[in-house]
Amino acid sequence: MPPLVRRLHTRFARLSVAAILLATLCFSLFALSTLRVIPYPTLWFVLGVVFALVSFASPIIQVRSLAHLRSRARSANWHLCPHCGYNVQACATPRCPECGRDGDPERDARVWQAATDLTLRKSAD
Ligand SMILES: [Zn+2]
Repeated sequence: MPPLVRRLHTRFARLSVAAILLATLCFSLFALSTLRVIPYPTLWFVLGVVFALVSFASPIIQVRSLAHLRSRARSANWHLCPHCGYNVQACATPRCPECGRDGDPERDARVWQAATDLTLRKSAD
């Protein structure tokens, strides 16, 4: 999996977990505020709903981001740097001019295709 795609998955996984935890916290505080232990029940309820919506939206945005990345990679004939996403299609050497890392154009193309495949097939790597 290209490091760029791995970072994308990690970022959205962290966002989902944080949103779920914050929603749980806010709904717990809402429950306490309805018992008049703490103030602002409306605030805790609204924040809980917002964080719950973020946790639901996160996977949708993640799939859209992957689809966008796949579209970019496909338009570059699958020759994107796996580390920074720079289009290396026109480069004479396999070294990325943006981040300076070496790449193998054929292997990287296969990896990009597998990593951005939005079907539920299991990738080989
Ligand atoms: Zn690069």
